[in-house]
Amino acid sequence: MSRPGIEWYRGVEKLRVKKDLENNPELIDRLGWYKERFISWCAGQRLIYEADIFDEVAEFEDRFIKSRLYNTDLKLWKKLRKEVFERDNYTCQYCGQVGGELEPDHIIPIAKGGTNDKENLATSCKRCNRQKRDKTLEEFNAWKDAWKAGVANG
Ligand SMILES: [Zn+2]
Repeated sequence: MSRPGIEWYRGVEKLRVKKDLENNPELIDRLGWYKERFISWCAGQRLIYEADIFDEVAEFEDRFIKSRLYNTDLKLWKKLRKEVFERDNYTCQYCGQVGGELEPDHIIPIAKGGTNDKENLATSCKRCNRQKRDKTLEEFNAWKDAWKAGVANG
């Protein structure tokens, strides 16, 4: 008989993680529908090192849930969106447009390590948001200056 492969170990780890979670119903609540994803991720982690189930949940949330909130937890994202718009009086923070089609913009883009914290979100009109894309504020301002200079020169 051949020796068990990595998938076998992963299966064993998955069962262990499931058992840990069953003993901690509050963590199951916290994970919600990410539970299966968490179990797979955790099993992978446990093949490398042993960690406390609470630490693992916290790390998983930091790495996968918080950074991808707007893709995955629509309800929470909609609530956050509304809070950001209200805080900014439904005014685009980049050009001053009031109302219209507004979107929350990540001041420091997610791709560059920004978070979904309210402090990192600014109300933006659709046009400014499309132009800013994944630029930082500095890059966006430089881009706008270059664009204006281009218009003036040509
Ligand atoms: Zn704007």
